[in-house]
Amino acid sequence: MSDPGITATRRAVLAAGASLTAAGAFAGRAAAQGDAELARVAGARRILLKGGVVLTLDRAVGDFARADVLIENGRIGAVRPDIAAGDAAVVDAANRIVMPGFIDSHHHFYQGILRNILSNGLLNPDYSRDISGALTVPYRPADVYAGTLVSALGMIDMGTTAAVDTSQVNHTPEHSDAGVRALQDSGLRVVYAYSRGAGPAAQYPQDLIRLQKAYFSSQDQLMTLALGGNLNVDQYTFARKHGVRMVAHGVRDETEKVLFELARLKLLGAGDEYIHCTHLSDAAWRLLKDTGSEVSLAVPIEMAMGHGMPPIQEAIDHGIRPSLSSDVGVTMAQDPFTVMRACFTLQRLNLLQRARRGEKSLPPLLTTREVLEFATVDGARCLGLAGKVGTLTPGKEADIVMLATDRLNVWPLNNVPGAVVNLMNPMNVDTVFIAGKVKKWRGGLVGVDVARVLKLVEEARDGVIARAGFKTSLFA
Ligand SMILES: [Zn+2]
Repeated sequence: MSDPGITATRRAVLAAGASLTAAGAFAGRAAAQGDAELARVAGARRILLKGGVVLTLDRAVGDFARADVLIENGRIGAVRPDIAAGDAAVVDAANRIVMPGFIDSHHHFYQGILRNILSNGLLNPDYSRDISGALTVPYRPADVYAGTLVSALGMIDMGTTAAVDTSQVNHTPEHSDAGVRALQDSGLRVVYAYSRGAGPAAQYPQDLIRLQKAYFSSQDQLMTLALGGNLNVDQYTFARKHGVRMVAHGVRDETEKVLFELARLKLLGAGDEYIHCTHLSDAAWRLLKDTGSEVSLAVPIEMAMGHGMPPIQEAIDHGIRPSLSSDVGVTMAQDPFTVMRACFTLQRLNLLQRARRGEKSLPPLLTTREVLEFATVDGARCLGLAGKVGTLTPGKEADIVMLATDRLNVWPLNNVPGAVVNLMNPMNVDTVFIAGKVKKWRGGLVGVDVARVLKLVEEARDGVIARAGFKTSLFA
């Protein structure tokens, strides 16, 4: 049915996954490493994070200078001071900010093997020519696997617990399978926005139907499916027919007329995601608001690569709380601190410049807490997961990060949202849980053979660059 070359690649991909991330074998591995505490936590049904600074980001639950968070069967059981441990595995959370994991609402995971290859590039012509064109076309399924895996593991390492993969490398069904498999192996919570690919074997968007049956039949799993695309009537019609949300790129002033056409055809759905949204008209913003749409702003990339002014204030002015995203690793870091800091500083710069020019009755400056909400609560809503994650609310799934404050770059702790948004970086990400499973423990990823992942990534990078005939330079 499929050609033997592809089948062999697929088998290699699956075998690689099985040994790179030892899912389910964490407890044994931890014991072998001599970390008895990790072994106890990895195997526990109840885990008690004891004595942390707890930032729930749920206004009804509140914040605590010192409290405990109980994880029960993968969910948040309780948040309050002095919870009795009972049979729970106790984790000392002293000098740790305990908060929801960060959420990245738009990233092209497959590009992990091409990190930083376009450090000084613009969207046009550089990115379109070198990345979407030259370097994406020669990807094989194993390259998709390697790039996607390293992006996902890197995110977990940096405190991101959920993300949207706007894939864009779906050249064949095997490419899509490899991406999904890498995401599954990583243990990250992901909305897989199945997207276009290059070449005659691409089956976009029809292959979504197969993917839906093969991987996404359960609601009770870490991964959900969406359709990645553009403002396009056929794509929206397809998404509505198959009951998936749209994740739309290329949303800007030049394309917004299609948005109105989609509205006229009643194809816009609540929860669809719109990326960038640069220079939209008032009417387009009102339409996004009225239809319950979600907005993803990739602030550092938009500033560096020429997408236009990130519309942080426009979104807020129209009653839309934006989510934040890292977009592409070919140019910029994925770490949530970089993304949050860019958002915080840019919104303030824009307003302060308006004040300097004499404008009166300006909207308020963003606070660090609001930016944290963009990166958690608003991200969860953008992913369609507001009921599952985004806050430390009892009953939600336990996607939790513990951020170390007793470090030379943060101590002494004087303001919690400020420390996270304005002072921290990934080295403060101490421990990470996704759905109550420990993924990072005291500074190191759990159950990941990092050396083997790096080797796999390097080999994939070398292969893609060679097949593309692409010239790279370490120093230019
Ligand atoms: Zn993008």
